[in-house]
Amino acid sequence: MADSALSTTDLETSFKALVACLDELDNGQLSLSRISGDADDEGPHPTYDSLLTPIEATAVEPTPNTEESRSCAVCEAHTERCCKACSHASLLSKHVQKRTYYCSKPCQEAHWQDHKASCKNIRNLLDRQSLSRAVQFLQRSFYIYREAAFDLSIKSINFQGNTVVIHEGPYVDNEILPGFPHDLVKSQKPEVKNMLLTMMSCSDMFIQIEKLCALLLKDTKYVKKIEELAVVVGHGPLNWHFHRHQGLFKSEHFPHTAYRVTLRDQSKWAIDLTAAQYGYAANLLPWKKYEQTRLRRILSISSFGTSSIQAAAVHTPGGLTPFGLVNELSTAIWHAQREIGKALEMDVINGLKGRGLTADILLAALPDGECATEMLYVLAAGKYAMEEFKKYVQQNTAKLFKEHMA
Ligand SMILES: [Zn+2]
Ligand SMILES: [Zn+2]
Repeated sequence: MADSALSTTDLETSFKALVACLDELDNGQLSLSRISGDADDEGPHPTYDSLLTPIEATAVEPTPNTEESRSCAVCEAHTERCCKACSHASLLSKHVQKRTYYCSKPCQEAHWQDHKASCKNIRNLLDRQSLSRAVQFLQRSFYIYREAAFDLSIKSINFQGNTVVIHEGPYVDNEILPGFPHDLVKSQKPEVKNMLLTMMSCSDMFIQIEKLCALLLKDTKYVKKIEELAVVVGHGPLNWHFHRHQGLFKSEHFPHTAYRVTLRDQSKWAIDLTAAQYGYAANLLPWKKYEQTRLRRILSISSFGTSSIQAAAVHTPGGLTPFGLVNELSTAIWHAQREIGKALEMDVINGLKGRGLTADILLAALPDGECATEMLYVLAAGKYAMEEFKKYVQQNTAKLFKEHMA
């Protein structure tokens, strides 16, 4: 476990990618003036009561900004209250955003016409930051889950051009989850690890970390809509050939999955947590860019949670897949993985609670450094819980495996 434990550097790297991603998103397309142009198309704004908040109520105070004057934007009276909707503005340092202070509701109301456009700009930028952070957290969670619940035995890994050729190894009976082949992966290019973790596990994103996706995406204010998509994607920088005992499996044989998310500003995004199996690094793209660069066609669009319900129905006695009857072995593996996934979900959710965090605080109110640290704590705890739980699961599912092999 030591070699794969999360390190601070690990998460820092991930956060550099996050910031780079945000920069890329901002690149040209996200100028403040442009957003203010469509600021009016979302119906009535929230009530003033919900918008005016004492700054003390903000769970985390960003680094004090000495230039920030705490006087009412209308009457200049000293005040400790600011517009709630943009109270985290100072986190967006690159745009030099400041909070807007008001002494009272009448003053805030009087100023709303002036403030409305910049308030929405800030909120939209924070929404995109939240999305970017949520995706990095979910990606990390997904890799941790897959590593703990890895269900394939791998004998060898070789490169042929841009194809990774993988051979399946033997399965020891009573070992339902053979474990991730760290030794084989060590000598390979770094992208091979994430390729192995994501290949043939697309819908696990919808199923095994569903509760985390709900917490950080579906049940938040910044996400307006989220859909589960089955898609066909074009060739990426890499592909894989997997020589299994049942025959040759290729990356192009499998449909792919993605979430499509619509934010409050109506922008649409593709979340692709298993993109690494095609050699792609980006896991969050504007939907248009995803359409242009990866998507060939959409096979189905379902509401959030659909895949999870379907998978549970399949893995019951006598359950049917589109490919026929599910056997005991695949069901045993699925249940073992589900238990490991649940251990992660529960531990992350409890871990956030234990650290006094809500999804909103983690995604929108913490400065980058603190956010990285909190994610590190929560994920490290989740990883430990999962490894422990895995031992228990393996002991209990061993007999099913033996029945199947007999
Ligand atoms: Zn005032
Ligand atoms: Zn505001």
